[in-house]
Amino acid sequence: MSINITVAKTAGFCFGVKNAMTQAEKLAENGGGYTLGQLIHNPFAIKELEKKGVFAIDTLDEAKDGKTVIIRSHGVGQAVYDELKRQNIPYIDATCPKVVKIHKIVEEESAKGANVLIAGDPNHPEVKGIMGHCHKNVKVWVVNSLDDIESLVKNEKSFVHNALIFLSQTTGKLSKWIEYKKIVKKHCTNLKIFDTICKATTCRQTEAEDLASKCDLMIVVGGRESSNTAKLADISKKYCKTFFTESAEALPVAEIKAVLSDLAKKSSDINIGITAGASTPYGIIKEVHRFMSEITKNDEMDIDFMAEVDKTFKRVYIGNRVKAYVVAVNNTEAIVDIGTKHSGYIPADELTATPGLLPKDVVKPGDEIECVVTNINDQDGIVYLSKKRVDAAAGLEKLADACNNNTTVTGIVTSVVKGGVIVTCEGSRVFVPASHTGVSRGRRGDQPENPEELAKKLETLLKKEVKLKIIEVSEGRGKVVGSIKNAAKEESDALKEKFWSEIEVGKKYVGEVKSMESYGVFVDLGGVDGMVHSSELTWNRIKHPKEVVSVGDKLEVYVKSYDPEKKRVSLGAKNPDDNPWTKFLAEFAVGDVVKVQVVSITPFGAFAQIIPGVDGLIHISQISLDRVTNVAQYLTVGQVVEAKITEVDEEKSRVSLSIKELLEESAGDEEEAAEEETEGTEEAAE
Ligand code: SF4
Repeated sequence: MSINITVAKTAGFCFGVKNAMTQAEKLAENGGGYTLGQLIHNPFAIKELEKKGVFAIDTLDEAKDGKTVIIRSHGVGQAVYDELKRQNIPYIDATCPKVVKIHKIVEEESAKGANVLIAGDPNHPEVKGIMGHCHKNVKVWVVNSLDDIESLVKNEKSFVHNALIFLSQTTGKLSKWIEYKKIVKKHCTNLKIFDTICKATTCRQTEAEDLASKCDLMIVVGGRESSNTAKLADISKKYCKTFFTESAEALPVAEIKAVLSDLAKKSSDINIGITAGASTPYGIIKEVHRFMSEITKNDEMDIDFMAEVDKTFKRVYIGNRVKAYVVAVNNTEAIVDIGTKHSGYIPADELTATPGLLPKDVVKPGDEIECVVTNINDQDGIVYLSKKRVDAAAGLEKLADACNNNTTVTGIVTSVVKGGVIVTCEGSRVFVPASHTGVSRGRRGDQPENPEELAKKLETLLKKEVKLKIIEVSEGRGKVVGSIKNAAKEESDALKEKFWSEIEVGKKYVGEVKSMESYGVFVDLGGVDGMVHSSELTWNRIKHPKEVVSVGDKLEVYVKSYDPEKKRVSLGAKNPDDNPWTKFLAEFAVGDVVKVQVVSITPFGAFAQIIPGVDGLIHISQISLDRVTNVAQYLTVGQVVEAKITEVDEEKSRVSLSIKELLEESAGDEEEAAEEETEGTEEAAE
């Protein structure tokens, strides 16, 4: 006869319980404290915790000594958080992230006015906690049978007509939930259903069903108070003889032997299955397995039972790459579930290569991430992992691709080292030599570089996001070298090429004034500089560009001409709408007498401003009725005189002025007046 014992892979702690237990172990190491209610439904685990100084309390009034209280994975209602704050009690929230999600759902939906229907045990702490997050203005019902739902349909009008959300206790039985949904859907039209049965629970139930269907006898291990363990026993009973036990010692040996003896009469192969609820410690499952192997031992069997049971548990080894589910995150580490019996930890410095980030900046509960196992402590059931190393390995591949394909990557400058900087990029460290950073080295001639000055310049890059080219990847040594300068050059070349392909006379740009000379300014048009001559900066007469612009100013310019061969662009910045010549032509004409201000003296005459931007020439011959040989003897700069517009050359934008013509006219008028006066006197004498 052969007897096979199989332990369900999903037997034992789920990650929510595992996290709560881990928090309790830590609390025990730090002087002990309390759990609000029993942490898990398992009397043996509770006793173990008490031995270590972690006690279950029923109310917060029992936590008066300042010690920390753990909120268990079932979660609590909002009132408990309020009370913790009011009494200033330190606490660790070990509510399972999946339960937290349900709290958020009921908070949001009930705040919008939806009534809440919960499938579950009204006395279960998780259900009470969920109820404690519903808005006080809505109705909340808990149903635990089809009759409960039928009764609501008959007796509660608002159940059928109002907006309703329907969800389940996380450890609810899947088959029951499916039935419940059918009937609620039939009656309630304004309904939203949230499938909140935990995957850990459904997987455990499905595996229990599968195992029980192949076995002749099932042992279900867990606390009598544990609803999910009771459900496993219910499932198993449908298929074979099932024993529900809290421990190996509690197994009814005589009864089991009698069952085995009956089975042996029918078959030479007997299959025994063992499963356990979410709150059953690994040690108790092992004990039950050991016990069962002892009572089923016979001479024909030579089985290493512990080896067999170990086979049914997923093993991990240092260097294994595993998928991890983030259960909780604190300031020093992330706690993860890797699908084994171990508690997984990723210390903060193994989460990311980017310095200064907290674990919460990198992962959040519910994330699924890839990690590598770095250390295992089987005795304590702890595994240490690194996400950083997996990221770095994947990053190294990406960087190698970037190197081969000459693509640009982005990273953050994280430190200055001898001879360059380190850029964290794709989870890897990339060394950028100083000569490739793009900072100006400031070396004069053959003079050696001052290392301190260079370091100061490199520090200006710290924490900046930079684009870089990967110029070397040595995968064996994990060494990667990059160049910020090469990436910048490629970008600048691309900009230049685009510029030259799109440039045309008259095209407008807004550019930054990069430098200034006495004859004009150079403007950056986006990778290419153009020159604006002083005479093209303003319609007014200026002596130096600094009178109208400064380096760094943004300037609207247009292309006057360009030479792609010589890479030269000549720009103008004067707005045609402000052209003073147009204004002059509209307002003045030949023959007009204008008041002008002398702006310059030359050997051949004087220039005088008619309006800003339009000067006229008073030729030396037009200054006086006398013969003028030295202009300065008659006119000075700044002097305001009256002159007549004698000629306008629109083509050359030139204006001729004459003072002399005005003087002649005035002399003629005086003569005429004198003659008229003389004639008048003579007439009177006659
Ligand atoms: Fe969380 Fe699921 Fe475990 Fe409940 S059964 S504590 S929801 S992981």
